[in-house]
Amino acid sequence: MRKYGILLLLILPLFTFAQDCSKVNKKAVKRLKIDVSTLASDQMEGRKPGTTGEIKARDYIVARMEEIGLSPKGTNGFVQDFSYFETVKQKPNKTKLSINNKLIRLNHEFFPINLSSNGTLTDIPVLAALYGIHLPAEGYSDYERLDLEVNGYIVQLDISTPKNLEFEVPDLLSRAIEAKDRGAVALLLYSSQNGVDLPISNFKRIEKIGIPVVFLKPSAFAKVPVEYLENASLSVLQYEVPAKAHNVVGFLDNGSENTIAIMGHYDHLGFGGEGSLYKGPRRIHNGADDNASGTAAVLELAHYFVNNKDTEQYNYLFIAFSAEEKGLLGSQYFVNNPTIPLSELNFALNMDMVGRMEKGMDLTIEGTGSALKWESYLKEIDCDAFPLKLEKREDGPSDHTAFYKMGVPALHFWTGKHNDYHRPSDDVEKINFEAESQIISFITSFLLKMDDLEKVEFHLRKK
Ligand SMILES: [Zn+2]
Repeated sequence: MRKYGILLLLILPLFTFAQDCSKVNKKAVKRLKIDVSTLASDQMEGRKPGTTGEIKARDYIVARMEEIGLSPKGTNGFVQDFSYFETVKQKPNKTKLSINNKLIRLNHEFFPINLSSNGTLTDIPVLAALYGIHLPAEGYSDYERLDLEVNGYIVQLDISTPKNLEFEVPDLLSRAIEAKDRGAVALLLYSSQNGVDLPISNFKRIEKIGIPVVFLKPSAFAKVPVEYLENASLSVLQYEVPAKAHNVVGFLDNGSENTIAIMGHYDHLGFGGEGSLYKGPRRIHNGADDNASGTAAVLELAHYFVNNKDTEQYNYLFIAFSAEEKGLLGSQYFVNNPTIPLSELNFALNMDMVGRMEKGMDLTIEGTGSALKWESYLKEIDCDAFPLKLEKREDGPSDHTAFYKMGVPALHFWTGKHNDYHRPSDDVEKINFEAESQIISFITSFLLKMDDLEKVEFHLRKK
């Protein structure tokens, strides 16, 4: 319980949750403006993980947490750094292909796929194994049909699906392994049909099957027609490129056994590229709503809980995650390497995009399926500023999902998608700071209410 006397207990309940959310907290607005404007400024270059922009944003958040008076709860002060795989690269002079002695150009005409091992093969005969399907249970085998013996050969495989089959064909991985198990020394893949899921060239991890595997683009067959592949020389040298990103973690220690975790990601898309919906010349994606707004909200809640007069029943952990835009990598890393035991977490509260509230809009709260009582608790908070839209969905595309999957009740607050989402136009002048301060007041009331209650019980919804 927060510490106040019996007498106060009689009076305070009238006020404790009464962070009237319709009133705008001017001081909070001022702080939010500074934090969002700084994080979403061009100096931060879109806060892409592994870049100097991310480092600058990280250092700003560390300085703010220090200034607020949180104690460090990362692995290196406030920072918890982690590695992830950014991309796979090929050594161009060691990744080469020639067919019938004609040079096939890397990336323009062929590329190694994620299944490829490294290796060099010189002047090896090529055998076409059609689709490379071998399904004896269905009475179908390209190898038996053609009476093919591929041991020692480079095998040419059509990755599309033969027409008029009444069974499901094996996927690319199974077909590639079938050929390899039959002794193929490398695979040249292509597709004879449009509309087939083609292998991608911009993958992040190598899942090698033991032999080189490359995909031939249609342009390769302008040099050598697909029916006339006779021999090939091939070498592949590709490697995974790791990168480093940084979570920032601060702690308010109230001497409790249990902790409420409050979070939002601070990374964004840098100059665009992967994840961006913008088509045009390179431009900074400042990510004011996504998610400088949520990061500023994390700091504002930290400011509130450090500076209010009460000592809460629970400890509070404040986390700014990185590499969310790359697939929740920061939160995933944190739940696998938590700096306080996950079993001590009461619940997790995520804010991702809380800056674009307009008149008449809902405040969306997702994840209410993660505890049976969430809906009733949330509905008990008195707030006229905006209607609530409660969604059970526990595994939406943001950081709370990583916690939910580890059995921690988790909510996500946000003001919804908009036309500037993942575009350079998601900028600071479009943030409604007054409304954001109202949302934070609502969340504060909610947290104060939850602070008076027992630990929330996790619920796994049957779907
Ligand atoms: Zn986001």
